[in-house]
Amino acid sequence: MQKNYEYDAVVVGSGPNGLACAIQLQRSGLSVLLIEGSEQIGGGMRSKEFFPGYLSDVCSAIHPMAAGSPFFSQLPLTDYGLEYINPPVLAAHPFDNGTSASLKSSLYETANGLGIDKGDYLDLMQPIVENWPKLAEDILGPFKIPKELIASLQFGLSAMKSAKWLSNRFKTEEAKALFAGMAAHSFLPLDQLSTAAVGLVLMANGHLKGWPLPKGGSQAIANALLSYFESLGGKVQMGWMVRSYGEIPPAKAVIFDTGPKQLIEIAGDHLPSIYKKKASEVSLRPRRI
Ligand SMILES: Cc1cc2nc3c(=O)[nH]c(=O)nc-3n(C[C@H](O)[C@H](O)[C@H](O)COP(=O)(O)OP(=O)(O)OC[C@H]3O[C@@H](n4cnc5c(N)ncnc54)[C@H](O)[C@@H]3O)c2cc1C
Repeated sequence: MQKNYEYDAVVVGSGPNGLACAIQLQRSGLSVLLIEGSEQIGGGMRSKEFFPGYLSDVCSAIHPMAAGSPFFSQLPLTDYGLEYINPPVLAAHPFDNGTSASLKSSLYETANGLGIDKGDYLDLMQPIVENWPKLAEDILGPFKIPKELIASLQFGLSAMKSAKWLSNRFKTEEAKALFAGMAAHSFLPLDQLSTAAVGLVLMANGHLKGWPLPKGGSQAIANALLSYFESLGGKVQMGWMVRSYGEIPPAKAVIFDTGPKQLIEIAGDHLPSIYKKKASEVSLRPRRI
């Protein structure tokens, strides 16, 4: 007997990943309901007026990955009010003696600021920056055999290392600190394998697309994504914190943009025990930078 579904897909959680997923499904011709627990859309892209007259980003603020994302780049977000501001200096790592090391849009300007590490910085970053248009889909997309095998292998040889190991190729404190600060965005111990990848991707995107901030705060990205989703016919329900699987309207697929702990609490009965065990380990693992 054919089951009656209210939606083709329900997406729980409206962070950047939930919104991207909802848009992709809706624009593929499916009917999608997006449920968000908070009264405000966007998850980590929310901005709020904590003090009258001052808009602050609640979580994320600077968006190299939104600007460099192959998926976001396909969306007409400027038509929905999204405008990026590009600062001349992308990021700076200050030192106690009053000096700093900085990441600039220009690969060469950044390298020039790193003294005797100029050559090493260029050797590391130039191939990644030049190959990025080929690499982006393989690195940022769902895990699969890379289309650009050679370029991906070249990137992987540096990216799979720990940030600590990779930064040891530099001789100056400036270059080491700049790279470590970038890799720290992984929220992982810097001696863990593959933490270098985060630093490399953020720096390469800085050299290609800058580290822009959205005019009006990160909320502007969330609002533009939501408006586009709704223009496609997508439905959204805010202020609905899903507590159990049974309360989710019948759908062919339910996608969770929540943490693994919330997913297990809500849908644990529908998940294989090996998956639940692995997901609980991820939730419990202590984070240290
Ligand atoms: C302090 C901090 C600063 C950061 N700064 C940056 C930055 O400057 N630039 C950058 O690119 N990234 C930054 N990040 C990372 C970025 O915020 C995350 O990568 C991003 O928000 C993850 O998106 P997501 O869609 O996976 O989940 P989230 O953004 O976490 O969204 C999940 C959503 O699901 C909702 N939800 C959860 N459970 C339920 C439920 N049961 N029912 C209904 N809704 C539910 C939540 O309310 C939330 O809206 C930062 C992260 C932190 C912690």
